[in-house]
Amino acid sequence: HSLQDLLLARIVDVPDYPKPGVTFKDITPLLADAEAFGALTEALAGLCRRHRADKVVGLEARGFILGAPAAVRAGIGFVPVRKAGKLPGATLGESYALEYGTAEIEIHAGALRPGDRVLVIDDVLATGGTAEASLKLVRRAGAEVAGVAVLMELGFLPGRKRLEAALDGAPLDAL
Ligand code: 5GP
Repeated sequence: HSLQDLLLARIVDVPDYPKPGVTFKDITPLLADAEAFGALTEALAGLCRRHRADKVVGLEARGFILGAPAAVRAGIGFVPVRKAGKLPGATLGESYALEYGTAEIEIHAGALRPGDRVLVIDDVLATGGTAEASLKLVRRAGAEVAGVAVLMELGFLPGRKRLEAALDGAPLDAL
């Protein structure tokens, strides 16, 4: 069967998590399945190659799990974007609005070089706030955006639309 069928069969809907009315897409069964996780890793590594990326930026926390093996497979380096206060060195930060309050993410200031082509990887694109802030960080670090790659895009939310300006023509791939 197709890659999409293989992946979808291992993503579980959890109703009313993390709060009533929200359905959470749980990817842990996919990670536990060697065939599905392997196929996902190959597909993400293929996107690294297709978009000529020379760094993967993974978004805490599930973007680490998906992004790191893809980077190794593609033969390129991995750079974490973390929640504020977790990185030990000098950082660049971006805040973005949540439903209630704000969140802040950071990247090591010296982790990317001007001219680096970065593929940003995360598990789920929902409102697009996290990915949008990460693209701003990548550009502020002086690097180029090769694209954004996610396992799953929640099509009933305007994430893709929200990312349009920050992508500036770079591709958004949802597997
Ligand atoms: P956004 O910023 O696009 O609203 O939310 C995306 C971020 O929240 C991602 O880092 C993603 O890991 C997490 N997220 C939001 N909804 C879900 C979900 O249903 N399942 C999973 N696995 N992660 C989610």
